[in-house]
Amino acid sequence: MLDRAKQNGIEIYVYSGYRPFEEQAALKGQYAVTYGEGTANQFSADQGYSEHQLGTTVDLITPGIGGTLQGFDGTEAYAWLKDNAHRYGFTLSYPKENGYYIFEPWHWRFVGIGLAADLYNSGRNFYDLEQREIDEYLVDIFE
Ligand SMILES: [Zn+2]
Repeated sequence: MLDRAKQNGIEIYVYSGYRPFEEQAALKGQYAVTYGEGTANQFSADQGYSEHQLGTTVDLITPGIGGTLQGFDGTEAYAWLKDNAHRYGFTLSYPKENGYYIFEPWHWRFVGIGLAADLYNSGRNFYDLEQREIDEYLVDIFE
């Protein structure tokens, strides 16, 4: 996916990928100290609940926004991902006005091409689905 973006003139890099339990715990602890627990809960999961612990989720970054995640939604990289990430099996976990966390335009989860494409085509989000619907796609992956 990143190679294809680059062919289209858009540089995207992985900022953060897999995080083990202890690292997520430390990160969340730091956020809670810095921002207070209430605010931290709006953008960071407790250890054991982060998609980053699955090993299937990445935070992506692009040049031009100061080496941070903030402002990613205003970049060409985000526009490209919105149009193309599903072709590579990725979906945006926390779109605008989701019921779980703040809007995270940089946070993309691999769910397989079949599910990502169906989500894209139906305009639905991963967390709109019932577990039994998701399970149908898991069968495909493991066969
Ligand atoms: Zn993330």
